[in-house]
Amino acid sequence: MIEQTTIVALSTPPGSGALGVIRLSGSKAIAIVDCIFKGKKLAKQTSHTIYYGKIVDAETIIDEVVVALFKNPKSFTGEDVIEISCHGSAYVLQKVIELCLNQGATLAEPGEFTMRAFLNGKMDLTEAEAVADLIASDTQNAHQMAMHQMRGGFSNDIKGLRKRLIKFASLIELELDFGEEDVEFADRTELKNLLLEIQTTISQLLQSFQLGNVFKNGVNTVIAGRPNAGKSTLLNTLLQEERAIVSNIPGTTRDSIEAIININGIKFRLIDTAGIREAKDTIEKIGIQRTFEAIEKASILIYVYDYETFALNDLEKDIKELQHSKAQIFCVANKLDLTDGVNDKLIAALEERLPNVTHLGISALKNENIDRLKKTISKDIASLQKGDTIVSNIRHFQHLKKANEYLELALQNLEQGISGDLIALDIRATLQELGSIIGEVSTDDLLESIFRDFCIGK
Ligand code: GDP
Repeated sequence: MIEQTTIVALSTPPGSGALGVIRLSGSKAIAIVDCIFKGKKLAKQTSHTIYYGKIVDAETIIDEVVVALFKNPKSFTGEDVIEISCHGSAYVLQKVIELCLNQGATLAEPGEFTMRAFLNGKMDLTEAEAVADLIASDTQNAHQMAMHQMRGGFSNDIKGLRKRLIKFASLIELELDFGEEDVEFADRTELKNLLLEIQTTISQLLQSFQLGNVFKNGVNTVIAGRPNAGKSTLLNTLLQEERAIVSNIPGTTRDSIEAIININGIKFRLIDTAGIREAKDTIEKIGIQRTFEAIEKASILIYVYDYETFALNDLEKDIKELQHSKAQIFCVANKLDLTDGVNDKLIAALEERLPNVTHLGISALKNENIDRLKKTISKDIASLQKGDTIVSNIRHFQHLKKANEYLELALQNLEQGISGDLIALDIRATLQELGSIIGEVSTDDLLESIFRDFCIGK
């Protein structure tokens, strides 16, 4: 274990609450709390036990608290850890931290508890990063992704790949020791197959990044269509149900409106855009330009049209234009309440003329078929998830990309019968990149940049 200072921080959100938890970690944690805690002598107690008592400042009682004791190495950080559950008064919490500081503790930096857990081998880097993701997760989906990573799912994938590569790297390096004798310990066909296999796995992980980001930040979903089709009504209907946060994107009044909603455990970022039409004035032009910018970034496009008044040619023209984007398109006939329901023949004709588009009928105003629309969209997104592991962290993505490039080089060199020492270099570089993901190879700068984004107390 690395000897460090003893740190202290508030681990619950600041402000008033029923409880506030102050956490200490380090070799002096127990001694420090023993100085300010009137209750059992903690130094004499066994690990993983809790005690009721009082926190005192000389003779003044600051609070009645419960103290949890975790002795090293069986704690979150691997060091001695104490958690003091106080009443959640801003004054009490600040006072207790102050008392700890007076006894020799230092204030923790953001993410320092988790960083210590990493440095003491309690978790690897991806698992440590997943702690931040877990804390930030606000949907079932983001939670699942973080939990999988925190439990080592992703690192196991990476460790598996490294283990197999290391075997070959050492065989090739062994050949170098026998340089003069022209021996081949590492079977070249086997090596090539292994590299190809690893490349496939890495490619899948790379591909999952887009989805990972989408799950974390919300699926960009644009509601588009001609004026009066019912776009805003649809947005409102979706929002009412989900009680979402609506925010105006800064700009003109005819700008897009953005809201975040949770549909079946997936976060969607809904964008209601200015209508698609010929612009009559500058402000409108800006609105329409933004519509197309939003469409460019969208994963899902809900094209709404007025089922009562639409013209087939306009619809076809709009959809064909929208199909230039990479988004999945849902073509939604609105205002069904004004008609006798969807004309199946018409929908069949539309499906034929506009394939690769999902057709659906709703009434945004009367809340008809909205559940079906939601189900269809969330099912579509959920089906994109192929394996258990989804890469959602840009740092992991970049190392995987580099690893892939080195693998490609190794494969090219292998193909051209280039000597073992060069191939060994490529493989070492691949290993280095994969090692950086889990933190087997890390620098102080890297650690600092990762943990800087954590909140204090984590
Ligand atoms: P937008 O310009 O596409 O945003 O359209 P709005 O949402 O502002 O709707 C235009 C008009 O159509 C409003 O008067 C709405 O009340 C009406 N409308 C929207 N959806 C429906 C619907 O499902 N049924 C009926 N009868 N009217 C609707």
